[in-house]
Amino acid sequence: MDELTTGTRDRRGHWWPKLHAGIAPIFVFPPQPRSFLRWLPTYFLPWNVLFFLSAAVLWWLLTPGMDTLSALAPGWVLYILARNTAAVGLFYGALEVPLYIQRRQAARFKYNPAFPEDRENGAFWWKSQTRDNMARSLLFAVPIWTAWEVLILWAFASGRAPMSTSAADPLWLLGIALIVPFIHHVHFYLIHRLLHVPALYRHIHAWHHKAVNPSPWSSLSMHPVELVLYFSGAGLHLMIASHPLLVLYHLHYAGFGAAIGHIGFHTIETGKDKGVDTHAFTHYLHHKYFEVNYGEGLVPIDKWMGTWHDGSDEGERLMEARRRRSALGRRGT
Ligand SMILES: [Zn+2]
Ligand SMILES: [Zn+2]
Repeated sequence: MDELTTGTRDRRGHWWPKLHAGIAPIFVFPPQPRSFLRWLPTYFLPWNVLFFLSAAVLWWLLTPGMDTLSALAPGWVLYILARNTAAVGLFYGALEVPLYIQRRQAARFKYNPAFPEDRENGAFWWKSQTRDNMARSLLFAVPIWTAWEVLILWAFASGRAPMSTSAADPLWLLGIALIVPFIHHVHFYLIHRLLHVPALYRHIHAWHHKAVNPSPWSSLSMHPVELVLYFSGAGLHLMIASHPLLVLYHLHYAGFGAAIGHIGFHTIETGKDKGVDTHAFTHYLHHKYFEVNYGEGLVPIDKWMGTWHDGSDEGERLMEARRRRSALGRRGT
């Protein structure tokens, strides 16, 4: 594919999409039915459907029955940890191997033309961003993800949290399934914005921001406190009469979806003239500039709060103006 049909390279070789990042037309006023209808399939395909399917496979085929889940025991807890570790290894590997190890599409559609592994970096264990991020993900992220999953499944199975079924409340559960991504994005914005408060940033969130040129394994490379907060979004299901499949969908949306947000490529080539868009651009800009795009545009809180950067010259100008204002504010106090 020709990357210059949908983007440009700047003087430093960085790729920018010609189409600036937009916000979901669901929140645009006055309503725009045509752009809503154009956007709707992209809401489901391919990523949300993929994460729902992965949740369905794990729930129906690879999760113990409710009787087992109703009593906490090391056997099934370690089994869930092992199956989540395998699932993360498979999914993250399926992105990392072709794009970053085999480099099948070289740097086409890659925002930052450099590959982290081409340069040693003392900020990381073994001076390697990939190995460091992979180790932190498996050591901290998967166990914390699993702990949330175990807690919620156990609470449902033991009657400690209200649970519904598709037979009893099909429309209620369908409604939750449809808004899980929105819930995730609002929750992510709130905890992420909080973690950019200077003291919390220094002690906690700085771990994640070591990667200024993120790759898939950077996604869950976070301080354990941030990981507990990040996966806590699924804790909502403890209060709303939900279903275990939706809990897994929520966790997969957070755990696997993060890899798409940090993939570093705008488009994954799937054929000579075919590709899948990743929607990674806004979070890539967050890693590049730090003070923009605390959320990702599905729910446009950044737009409402004045921290949105869509990749345009206007987005750049607004960011610079904001930086000047806060520098002046600091000097004035
Ligand atoms: Zn990130
Ligand atoms: Zn951040």
